[in-house]
Amino acid sequence: MRAGFPDFRLGSVLATSFTATLTERRGDAVERIPTPQRLVDWLAVSGLAVESCTTAQFDLARELRESIHAAATAAAVQEALPEAAVRVINDRSAQGRAAAVLTPDGKRRWRLSSPSSVEDALGVIAADAISIIAGERDGKLALCASPTCRATFFDTSQSRTRRWCDMNTCGNRQKKARFNAKKPDSAE
Ligand SMILES: [Zn+2]
Repeated sequence: MRAGFPDFRLGSVLATSFTATLTERRGDAVERIPTPQRLVDWLAVSGLAVESCTTAQFDLARELRESIHAAATAAAVQEALPEAAVRVINDRSAQGRAAAVLTPDGKRRWRLSSPSSVEDALGVIAADAISIIAGERDGKLALCASPTCRATFFDTSQSRTRRWCDMNTCGNRQKKARFNAKKPDSAE
């Protein structure tokens, strides 16, 4: 981890891990990829290592992130998908030329066309977003119950009743708030 930057919140779903690089969207927003280098760091830990990122590529990445957030939010509440967001997701998906490759031990990895192709990495993320928004994967898009967060997350729990984007942050905060509200001495 690089000192001075907020750390990443990595989940098991690529597209929603990406939208989680901006958290507390309805509160005091925390930008977790404030610089192109920080995006490079995030891509590396997400299995999409690139060597560098230009300002233009960085802009594409953040535009894609907000488009996924908008489309996934609409999908979670079963509203019409915002056209502009869909266009951005489709453009990024079409421009990526990453190939899925199989490792000797049977894992899937992404091979980018060039070591600095942020576009390829974004293509993989866009395709991941498409698969969850289109309902192709086993799980359900939902919005975090925290009023300051409202992040979209992909619920793969058996019962599909997960309430928070992240148990360690939003979920925990909610639990603590409830606990404090129950204590008699908190009534002032
Ligand atoms: Zn949350």
